[in-house]
Amino acid sequence: MRLKFLLFQAFLVLGTTFIIEAQTVTNQVQDVNEIFSVRPEAYFTFQLTDPVTVHDLTRMISVDNVKNKQIWAYANEKEFRQFLKLGIQYTILKPPCQEFLDDAVDNISLKQPLTWDYYPTYPAYESMMSQYETNYPALCRTITIGTLSSGRKLLACKISSNVDSAMNKPRFLYVSSIHGDELTCYVQMLRLIDLLLSGYGTNPRYTRLLDSIEIYICPLANPDGTYHGGNSTVNQATRENGNGVDMNRNFPDPAGGPHPDGNAWQEETVYFMEFASQHHFVMSANFHGGAEVVNYPWDTWSQLAADDNWWNFVGREFADTVHVYNSTGYFTDLDNGVTNGYAWYEIEGGRQDYMNYWQHCRESTIEVSSTKKPPASQLPNFWNYLNHSLLNYMEQCLYGVRGIVTDSVTGDPLRAKVFIQGHDFDSSEVYSALPVGNYHRFLYPGTYNLTFSHPGYYSKTINVQVSNYSIKFRDVQLVPITAGIDSPVDKSVRVYPNPARGIVRIDLYNNQQISRVEVFSLLGETIDPCGNNVKSLHTLDVSCLIPGVYFLKVTFENNESAVSRIVKE
Ligand SMILES: [Zn+2]
Repeated sequence: MRLKFLLFQAFLVLGTTFIIEAQTVTNQVQDVNEIFSVRPEAYFTFQLTDPVTVHDLTRMISVDNVKNKQIWAYANEKEFRQFLKLGIQYTILKPPCQEFLDDAVDNISLKQPLTWDYYPTYPAYESMMSQYETNYPALCRTITIGTLSSGRKLLACKISSNVDSAMNKPRFLYVSSIHGDELTCYVQMLRLIDLLLSGYGTNPRYTRLLDSIEIYICPLANPDGTYHGGNSTVNQATRENGNGVDMNRNFPDPAGGPHPDGNAWQEETVYFMEFASQHHFVMSANFHGGAEVVNYPWDTWSQLAADDNWWNFVGREFADTVHVYNSTGYFTDLDNGVTNGYAWYEIEGGRQDYMNYWQHCRESTIEVSSTKKPPASQLPNFWNYLNHSLLNYMEQCLYGVRGIVTDSVTGDPLRAKVFIQGHDFDSSEVYSALPVGNYHRFLYPGTYNLTFSHPGYYSKTINVQVSNYSIKFRDVQLVPITAGIDSPVDKSVRVYPNPARGIVRIDLYNNQQISRVEVFSLLGETIDPCGNNVKSLHTLDVSCLIPGVYFLKVTFENNESAVSRIVKE
């Protein structure tokens, strides 16, 4: 293919602001060095032309938006040079962080009462996050998810009554600004933390939320991107992290494999995956800007999620509630503010699909404003449009089916799999979480059979009828397969695997030697399994036994004996 190249013109404007304007001219050699001498990433738009597809682009550059065949994207220099090889005409756009310039506010205390019409400096942000815990020690803990090489931190506020205890509460997570230049919800998250903490005990709605949910809010997932221009300004914010990587393309992907973007996991990604693995969030959202839509799984493939109707219901509620507070066409992208991710455009390596596929969470990607970084003075308006939906979405994690799974003998909590036959696929099953053993399953109205299983236990299925805005509590006890079997057993003998299909192994935990091994039916009849009896006194072939329960008698050299039960599968 003959390559077409473009020419752009860069104008440096007075002060700290660079504005790049462009015109598309073909057959000219693009001075890529010049673009990237100004900023580490380019923001550009182009028309998708055959035979190139979004799928081709998703691993090459960071696609940010697609409308019909018009693409908006970001790229670091390496990605951009790859893109140039496609020979597609493009236009370099002004970085979204520079559409409106605002001074970041350093001393928040000067802003009392809080008006939320400013972007904080990085030090002000850190001090706000720690101040929440200082001001509300019974309700808030400021958690450091990780400290980056830059020294900046990934922080979250954990908000709950009983903030230091492991409770039977669903864990909920809000995160904003994984794209460092999408900052509308950065400030809304800070405001939401303040609202929940200050309203506890006086406002019934916020009180119920803190009493019922363990809430985690991380307002700023990409501090190095947001404060790319230094800790005291967000006017040079980048989408990508300090390493030039789009972190919302950097997660393991169900279709694209562990490194769909070809980059190593960034330190932010590793910290976040650890955080998610430790906390077992049941529901979450990741806030972005650049569009106005609730985007739900999957982003990576066209197959609809098992709970597609539930996703659509929750997304619809978010968008429709926004429309009540702003009916002027705000939040109406795609299907009036809601979309399946892949139907909009495919991405690989997004956090949403990672959270849903590997963490069995329910995470959507919520794009809250077409303008990625609105003028600070407009931030309170967005709060007015969005805060009811932010609360509604969180309240959805109070509904569905939930309970605690325990061992029927010991009462110990179990991490059990909760699977719905004929419904679940693509990793949509959930797991109960330790140390409490609580599970939580969100479902669209209907009747479902939930099967609880855990290795070493008989699985159990319960039937539950689900309706919207209601909760069904169902605690489940799983019976260990060895229940009752241990009673006649000397603990000095261990038989495994049990249940067994073929060879079982017999280990002793005393100082004795085995002199004889015998197998009996439940009626006490001696059985010679497989006709070969025992070749080694420490192994036994049970493959010929009819499935069922048998006694295994082990006689020691001192003529004492121990009996165990063995289950033939
Ligand atoms: Zn984004």
